[in-house]
Amino acid sequence: MNKKNVLTVKNLNKIYSKKGSSRIEALINLNLEVKRGEIFGLLGPNGAGKSTFINILGGTVIKTNGEVNVWGFNLDKNPRQVRASIGIVPQEVNIDPFFSPKNLLELQAGLYGIKKKDRITNSILNLVSLEKQANSYSRSLSGGMKRRLLIAKAMVHQPPIIILDEPTAGVDVDLRQTLWENVRSLNNQGVTVILTTHYLEEAEKMCDRIGILNNGQLVALDTTKNLLGRIKRKIVNFSTDKKVNMNNDSLESLKIISNEENLFSISYEKNKINIDTVISTLKEQNIKIYDISTDDGDLEDVFLRLTKN
Ligand code: ADP
Ligand code: MG
Repeated sequence: MNKKNVLTVKNLNKIYSKKGSSRIEALINLNLEVKRGEIFGLLGPNGAGKSTFINILGGTVIKTNGEVNVWGFNLDKNPRQVRASIGIVPQEVNIDPFFSPKNLLELQAGLYGIKKKDRITNSILNLVSLEKQANSYSRSLSGGMKRRLLIAKAMVHQPPIIILDEPTAGVDVDLRQTLWENVRSLNNQGVTVILTTHYLEEAEKMCDRIGILNNGQLVALDTTKNLLGRIKRKIVNFSTDKKVNMNNDSLESLKIISNEENLFSISYEKNKINIDTVISTLKEQNIKIYDISTDDGDLEDVFLRLTKN
């Protein structure tokens, strides 16, 4: 298998069609690759096709056509090996309320045919910080704990890839933090992570690379850094005591918006200029900076631009 890619998708299509209702093209010629060890984020508005994609990998949705390879296994030829290589945390929480986390993980291990001596139930519970709740009824767990239990369940067979569909939907803000820490520690242990979310800020913080899906089509696929670099330029306004001696040629990508007695406004590309450079230049000119305000673009800008019709 390709050493770097753990997931390769070529011209993947999914059309939902039911008798008497119209066809829905949920995925249109999707092409993407996920690299070993990365955290890959699939972003997109509701109905974009994210869950469809994940459920194709999980085997609960049958693709219309296209090629999917996971961990070197072809989905059509080796569906069982594909399933063994991934752990899926579904969008919907469905846990039997009368099972304890420990029972649930043991049951799941049984389903995967893992021998008692090879099970790692306790260490998985530790990983998702549920060791204290190991023997409580699942129904007594909070929303965040249930999500973490689903992550634990997906890890029972120690897959090299874990896939999380909207992991923080319905999870309290303070509990999201723990969840992300769990995901990170998994990733630090070498697990490749694929997640979907529509919380852009989280994707920005968590993901190495991001694909943006809109109406079944991939409209962007790049490193988070590059995507952020693509957004509208960063704008910085300095309140100063005198006029600044700089022009558009002073630094690469610099554009001076206004240069007056008390106001110096610039825009520039974030990945070309570091604000420190501008500040030092001002200091060299003995200019006092009274105040700085910035207008920082974020992923939402890219997202809105790419997903508006
Ligand atoms: P997302 O997870 O990005 O919100 P989905 O993959 O759930 O998007 O849905 C993509 C499109 O496919 C939507 O238009 C949705 O209504 C449709 N869809 C999803 N599941 C089914 C299904 N089982 N039958 C028919 N249409 C479906
Ligand atoms: Mg979904």
